[in-house]
Amino acid sequence: MLCRSRWRRLALPPAPSPGPRRAGSGAAPAAGYEVVVIGGGHAGTEAAAAAARGGARTLLLTHKIGTIGQLSCNPSFGGIGKGHLVREVDALDGLCGRVCDLAGVHYKVLNRCKGPAVWGLRAQVDRGLYRDNMRKEILNTPLLTVHEASVEDLLLTEPEPDHPGKCRVRGVVLGDGSTVHAGSVILTTGTFLRGMIHVGLEKHPAGRLGDQPSIGLAQTLERLGFAVGRLKTGTPPRLAKDTIDFSGLEERTADNPPVPFSFLSKAVWIKPEDQLSCYLTYTNPKAQQIVQDNLHLNNHVRETTKGPRYCPSLEAKVLRFPNREHQVWLEPEGLESNVIYPQGLSMTLPPELQEQVIKSIRGLEKAKMLQPGYGVQYDYLDPRQLTASLESRLVQRLFFAGQINGTTGYEEAAAQGVIAGINACLRVRGKPPFIVSRTEGYIGVLIDDLTTLGTNEPYRMFTSRVEFRMSLRPDNADARLTHRGFEEAGCVSQQRYEQAVEMKAALEDGIAALKSLQLSVSKWSQLIPEVHLSSNRRSPMSAFDVLQYPEANMEILARAIPEPLRKFAQWRELSERLKIEAAYEWCVVNQQQEIEEVRRDEALQLPEDLDYFAIDASLSTEVREKLSSNRPQTIGAVSRIPGITPAAIVNLLRFVKNKQQKAEKLKAFPQTDKYLPGKTYSEKAASQTQISAELSEEELESTFVKTPV
Ligand code: FAD
Repeated sequence: MLCRSRWRRLALPPAPSPGPRRAGSGAAPAAGYEVVVIGGGHAGTEAAAAAARGGARTLLLTHKIGTIGQLSCNPSFGGIGKGHLVREVDALDGLCGRVCDLAGVHYKVLNRCKGPAVWGLRAQVDRGLYRDNMRKEILNTPLLTVHEASVEDLLLTEPEPDHPGKCRVRGVVLGDGSTVHAGSVILTTGTFLRGMIHVGLEKHPAGRLGDQPSIGLAQTLERLGFAVGRLKTGTPPRLAKDTIDFSGLEERTADNPPVPFSFLSKAVWIKPEDQLSCYLTYTNPKAQQIVQDNLHLNNHVRETTKGPRYCPSLEAKVLRFPNREHQVWLEPEGLESNVIYPQGLSMTLPPELQEQVIKSIRGLEKAKMLQPGYGVQYDYLDPRQLTASLESRLVQRLFFAGQINGTTGYEEAAAQGVIAGINACLRVRGKPPFIVSRTEGYIGVLIDDLTTLGTNEPYRMFTSRVEFRMSLRPDNADARLTHRGFEEAGCVSQQRYEQAVEMKAALEDGIAALKSLQLSVSKWSQLIPEVHLSSNRRSPMSAFDVLQYPEANMEILARAIPEPLRKFAQWRELSERLKIEAAYEWCVVNQQQEIEEVRRDEALQLPEDLDYFAIDASLSTEVREKLSSNRPQTIGAVSRIPGITPAAIVNLLRFVKNKQQKAEKLKAFPQTDKYLPGKTYSEKAASQTQISAELSEEELESTFVKTPV
């Protein structure tokens, strides 16, 4: 119900013309809403759309409609680990993947040198096109109404007896004092809760540059007894493209053909040859000197609030890794845009000093700064106060999603938004929650990490956080999630569901056909001499086994044995997916065994005197720091430290067991170097090498996160 409604008819900036089912502006229906979403950022838009797709009459309330679809920082989506999230959001019929396919100007799959399980789909998008297409999607979503308003407080009532929580939310109070009643409320206020912008020594309250902060809601959460913390993030200055000298800088071209994000897209909107390039330059000692000489003029950096580890400011990099050149990626903000986003140059020095840093960098000597970089500090909620459905344990039917839960990034926000939207809708219907487990998706890992371990620094998704990454791949997100989204959550369209069912059935048929074709190695070698098969195998080999070889593909196999393989090879997407399934089959089985192995060794005691910074194990600096400060006593305790990756646990376990075995060997055979019979853990764990190598490289790479190559 709306009281004293003073809804403004919304004046939108030019957008693609909305379709016939436009929802949004105009008077709100009197009957109230099943779901009310606060915040029109990445979490809010996905949450509102998911709730409405699930059948809930939904209201999206946000400060400014003009900021729907606005990318507050880098106009890019995806990357390592984040690309998986976009695919999973898409598998649940979320919006961001489809919109990226309508807005990208530079598509690139990161991590191509590794297996498809850890490929990172990424796109640099046109800021305006992304915003306009996202707004069009939102305004065309049936059952979804959008209104511009500031939410100041929550309406509360007695708790439901059969659920935990000290009260229940029943609506929201707006800035003008009017109220809106709701079955469930989703809070997605991002960096706005008591947001404070920092540039140099100056600071002023704001959610983002040009936006008001959210003070009333922050006070409400505090009053209700929620545990909140403080985090910070930042953004680089923007540069005028026509003042940059790109000659002599390293050019990185986009992929040809580009790989779409959405399972529904056969291709992206832009022709491969029309895509824009990114350019690489570096900081230098002069830039470092300017930063170091002026730290006293930089409040944001001096304060102890935690910032994003994987997207650090230039100041943080200079302090942490002095005397190094740091990468600066010059990324286009759009096809027609004259704005360049210098990835890696986030800083909060006073603007005149930011200009000095810019001009010290190769290619940027004459660059014009269009907008200075700035930092923002904000309140976030300890996400351990939420269940896996993202509902608060304290206040019934109140859901939280996005950066308010301590994450950073559009993709992490979007992923939580979809889950909160689905669950807010299911909750009003009295249906069981929709939970994605760690074994089913990156979304499951993200939410499980947040709600069980919490976070004390902005949380970013990585493939290395995921135990089952050989099976949770970008290519199969639809097979993992779409049917659940359709059957349990009702948030997936009939068309998408049918497409996913068809693909799943075709994959199963294809795998069965490939496995049933069994020939001797010599016969295979005659048929497909271009594939170099291992000659010491005696037993027959299936076509599925052959497909695992790097040189093999469905086209080659179908040429050798047209019946029954031709029909599978003719479907390009299917034949690519069959190849990936074949390549990962043994990994998936193996991985499961290794995970079991770690579980069995949970009680293994760690030596008290371990110097985590000195030990010869493949561990990132972040992991070493965490182990050193937490000093866990067992491997089980290691696995419960926030931010310790599964691969790090395996590597540490391997190191400790090796050490113990060597000590035992010395005790048993003090004078000799004799071989001890029996298989050691390190032998079995050799198969982990690939995983640990992947981790250490990824973490190294991620120090300079989201690079476009
Ligand atoms: P937001 O996108 O912040 O949206 C919050 C929404 O809530 C806004 O629409 C706001 O108007 C609305 N709102 C807040 N309070 C109220 C209220 N009381 N009433 C009504 N509406 C309200 N991520 C990246 O992936 N790459 C980057 O390079 C990057 N850099 C960043 C730099 C800066 C300076 C900032 C601030 C963030 C950056 N991020 C970056 C993070 C990224 O912007 C966020 O992770 C993401 O936008 C979070 O989405 P969200 O929906 O949770 O919140």
